[in-house]
Amino acid sequence: MALIVQKFGGTSVGDTDRIHNVANRIKTYYTQGHDLVVVLSAMGKSTDHLVSLAAALSQRPSKREMDMLLSTGEQVSIALMAMALESLGVPAISFTGAQVGIRTNNRHTDARIESIDAERIRASLAQKKVCLVAGFQGVDEEFNITTLGRGGSDTSAVAMAVALGASECEIYTDVDGVYTTDPNKVPEARKVERISYEEMLELARLGAGVLHSRSVEMASKYGVTIHVRSSFNNSKGTLVVSEEQVMEKVLVRGVSLKSDEARISVIDVPDRPGLAADLFSRMAEADINVDMIVQSTGRDDHNTISFTVPQKDLLQARAMVQEWISGLGKGDIEVEEKVAIVSAVGVGMKSHSGVAAKMFQALAETGANIEMISTSEIKLSVVVHPDQGRKALEALHKAFDLGDKNAAAGS
Ligand code: ADP
Ligand code: ASP
Ligand code: MG
Repeated sequence: MALIVQKFGGTSVGDTDRIHNVANRIKTYYTQGHDLVVVLSAMGKSTDHLVSLAAALSQRPSKREMDMLLSTGEQVSIALMAMALESLGVPAISFTGAQVGIRTNNRHTDARIESIDAERIRASLAQKKVCLVAGFQGVDEEFNITTLGRGGSDTSAVAMAVALGASECEIYTDVDGVYTTDPNKVPEARKVERISYEEMLELARLGAGVLHSRSVEMASKYGVTIHVRSSFNNSKGTLVVSEEQVMEKVLVRGVSLKSDEARISVIDVPDRPGLAADLFSRMAEADINVDMIVQSTGRDDHNTISFTVPQKDLLQARAMVQEWISGLGKGDIEVEEKVAIVSAVGVGMKSHSGVAAKMFQALAETGANIEMISTSEIKLSVVVHPDQGRKALEALHKAFDLGDKNAAAGS
């Protein structure tokens, strides 16, 4: 008998039939005698629907009210799941983030969990109830409802596992594990048995939406194994574990595509110390995540600095840069509203050279023009035109021989 922490994503609870199926799965574990804490996402695309309702009424809705709105989706799921379980004879109780003491900072729409008071959950488990927790939400110090950023229910689940001392967190989704790339974009993608926290974190940050990047960060920090698996079958999925626990050694573990970024270039600004510090500290103060940065020294003591920002922050970032340039009295701004970031990730890169050459060669063959490059010990990312993104992803997947040999042979 063990404590099991599970999370079911939007597709897995997309309609009442699916909720019923998940309830049956929960019942199986419950009748084996396990204690169950189950974190749920909003049904299907209901969070997107809430976002569109807000957009119909306001161009820039306040972030506090967005959180108030978006957090309702998860509340529907937990209540319905509790009813489904009760009708199967399984005692269950649902909780909002506030009710189980998920305390976050006050950064609305992108809050971070600071603490969880697991007492209420423990008490309900002691009464042999299945605990259903609303994912994606918490409360700040003043009890304002906050949300953790899109896809944040994964992070709620890992945080619950940490708070309750569980060594594993099961993430049930609509694919049966983590693949070498998004299997819905590249059919040849292959499921990986194990992936290191480091690799998964980079892939998640760089567009692999299968896990919320902060859930991986947290799992790594507290040594919780994440088991990504399908809610539609019983097969074993992918384990996200420490590097030492990954047996298969490869150069590149996976490739990813991120399509929700924009590029800003600041052209012909004076070349003097402190300028970049000034620009990027303004961005940081406004909570804008600047991703890739490339600086090129122009002629006559002038610089061009290009960087990417999430598309959702573009309006604000553009206005800030424009104001900054007016303050300098010199310079220009150029914006590309959508760019694609294509990346290759693998801890094997730490000890092998030649990845860059292979990547650039593969991209050249697709005719993709590389606009920016960024590297770290275990990743290589390039910015390309959005129309080239998908082709570039496929080319890298092939160049690093990541495909399922059987699928490739059969196609
Ligand atoms: P959930 O609603 O269960 O949280 P998500 O849509 O957030 O599900 O995540 C699952 C999706 O992630 C898959 O349907 C798949 O299209 C996408 N995905 C992106 N990259 C990968 C990858 N490397 N491996 C598996 N799935 C991926
Ligand atoms: N419902 C939220 C979203 O769609 C959180 C989640 O599904 O993880 O982003
Ligand atoms: Mg998700």
